[in-house]
Formats: sequence, structure tokens, C-alpha cells
Amino acid sequence: MSKLYDIIDKLEETQNLEKEEFINLLDNLTESLAQYAYEKARKVAREHFGNRIYIRGLIEISNYCKNDCLYCGIRRSNTNADRYRLNKEDVFSCCHTGYNLGFRTFVLQGGEDPFYSDEFLIELISEIKKNYPDCAITLSLGEKSRDSYQKLFDAGADRYLLRHETADEAHYSKLHPKELTLESRKSCLQSLHDIGYQTGTGFMVGSPWQTNENLAQDILFIKELSPEMVGLGPFIPHHDTPFAGEAQGALDKTLFLLALLRLMKPSLLLPSTTALGTIHPKGRELGILAGANVVMPNLSPVDVRKKYLLYDNKLSSDAEAAEGLNSLKKQMDAIGYEVVTDRGDYAPQLRKGVLLDV
Ligand code: SAM
Repeated sequence: MSKLYDIIDKLEETQNLEKEEFINLLDNLTESLAQYAYEKARKVAREHFGNRIYIRGLIEISNYCKNDCLYCGIRRSNTNADRYRLNKEDVFSCCHTGYNLGFRTFVLQGGEDPFYSDEFLIELISEIKKNYPDCAITLSLGEKSRDSYQKLFDAGADRYLLRHETADEAHYSKLHPKELTLESRKSCLQSLHDIGYQTGTGFMVGSPWQTNENLAQDILFIKELSPEMVGLGPFIPHHDTPFAGEAQGALDKTLFLLALLRLMKPSLLLPSTTALGTIHPKGRELGILAGANVVMPNLSPVDVRKKYLLYDNKLSSDAEAAEGLNSLKKQMDAIGYEVVTDRGDYAPQLRKGVLLDV
């Protein structure tokens, strides 16, 4: 069994493991092995970020979606979803509130809603940048052409989040309708990276049919792409989707994967996600204690928050909400961390003054 601890040590030292080693860790996960990994991941995060936690204001601009991902509560086939979309003034008002609260990153996320043309988004991004030149804009609006990604980048978008969801072709096809492919997802990620976005990918933990081998593939895909950000959270079923009766992802496995990613890439911007907070009352804090360094409170207008229901019981109030920032600060303070007013850009890792990853 001590071999498993050696594998964690090896990951910390070399930031590299073979696929079989990742599978071995995941197949033999115990509470004490997990605690060992969390402690190391925490230490590595502290070395890179100190006790600073970056915050992002999440603005969920639309729950219309042309896609039909089998796991997602806002999939187009869900006729029970109460649809909404925000106009420019709504978004500006969210930014105004967020800026005054101390947010210096705005994340515009939504379903793939054709209403938001490139022209619309260019105007929106340019206007936000004009009013808040010291803020970063992150987009999370799904798959687009390289040309569209380029135009939005040129308009001032800094970062883009697009989870690959699973790096295994066969698994991908079980979670998505056939018009969505892993190949296209990967090609979007490559375009984003090449254009110069700080790029985020990620996956759900415990999605139906997922194996530990799939998770090892996810980690190795992340190693290869070398994104600046990774979002991962447990899969949580939504009652109006084909996966309504499936089990949710496990807390310990999600935390362990956060720790492995932190050890593999110390400089990664790694959120402790809303989904983690949803499956456990202390999920947010546990994520930070497993190596995460970012939280993304909800800045959407209060009347639409419940409508952006990706999965059942999704949190959107108290510390999960931008106006609940004081609760979040207290929670972080209680575990020894400080929420900072900062853009929180990606900064490559230095070891003995030498840049390790760019
Ligand atoms: N449309 C954009 C996209 O595809 O990237 C952004 C919105 S999408 C709803 C954001 C993320 O929510 C997805 O990447 C997925 O991982 C996550 N998500 C959707 N349904 C979920 C569920 N049932 N449980 C956990 N996460 C879920």
C-alpha cells in the first residue's frame, strides 16, 4: 500500500505520472491516501498563491440552448425549463454590482443560444471593457468557429471556459447526442489556446458510465493541452433529463482529483465549484483544502438564478451569491484563506527563478 503514497510523492516531484499510476491511485483510494494528497496539494497551492483566493462573478446570460447534452437541465429537449435571456443592460447592471463588491473578473456563461450573435457579443464585451478596464472577461458560451473566437478575443475577452466533459470518445458519445463530438470539442479548445485566451477545460466526476480509466484519460488530456484553468465538479442528476435516475458523483473522488491536478500543475487556476458546494454543506471549503484556489459566486439577477438549473438543488444564495460575499469571506477566513480583489490572471510556475510552464 505504501506504493500508493510513493506515487503521490512522484507526482509532486515530477508533475508527471503514467496512466496506469493514475488508475492505480483511483482504484485504491482510501481516506488516508486522500488526506495525504490533500495536504500536499494544499502546500503546493500555498507556495504558488499564498492564502489568496481569487473570486469570479458568474453572470448566467441565457438558459436557452440549442444542444441536447443528456446530463444537462437546460438541454433543448427539456420543455419544462423556464427560459430567459439577459439583455445588455441586465449584464451591465450585474457588472456594476459586481465591481462595487470587489469582483475584477466577470464570467459570461450560458447555453449555446444563437440569439447572441458575434456582433452582439462584441458590443457587450467592448462596452464592459470600456467601463471596467481593470477587469478580466471570461466567456463560457460553448462551441464556436475559430473566426468567432478570434473576434471575441479581439473585442477584449481574456479567458474562455469550455469543459471537454470526458476525454474518451465512446464515453463522450454516451453523454451527448451524435451531432456533438469530442473531436470538435478538442478542436475548439485548441483554437482558444492558439488564439491566446487563458483557456479552461474540465469534466464532471461520476458522470454515468465513467470509469477510473476515463478519469486517467481526462487528466492526461489536461496534461497535454496544458490549460490555464480546469473546472471540475461532481455530476448531479437533474429530474427532467434522461439521467434523472443516475447516482451523483462522489465528494471524495472529486476532491482527490482536484488534489491530483494541483500536484500535476501547481500554477493551475482551479475553482472549488458550485456543484461541490451543492453536494456537501462544506464542499466549497473542502475544495480549497484539497488545492483549489478560485471561487465563482453568482452575480446573475436574483430573479433568474433558479432558472439556470443545470442540476437539481443547484446553490445560488448565501455564500454562493455575489451579495453573500461576506459569508464567503468568513468561510474562507475560518479555514485560513483570504478572498482578494484581483483579476487573478494565470501566472506560470517558477522554480528557483526559472519559468516551468508558459
Ligand atoms: N454551454 C456552455 C458549454 O457547453 O460549455 C456553458 C454552459 S454548460 C451548462 C456548463 C457546464 O455545466 C458544462 O460544461 C457541464 O460540465 C456542467 N453541467 C451540466 N449539467 C451538469 C450536471 N447535471 N451536473 C454537473 N455539472 C453539469
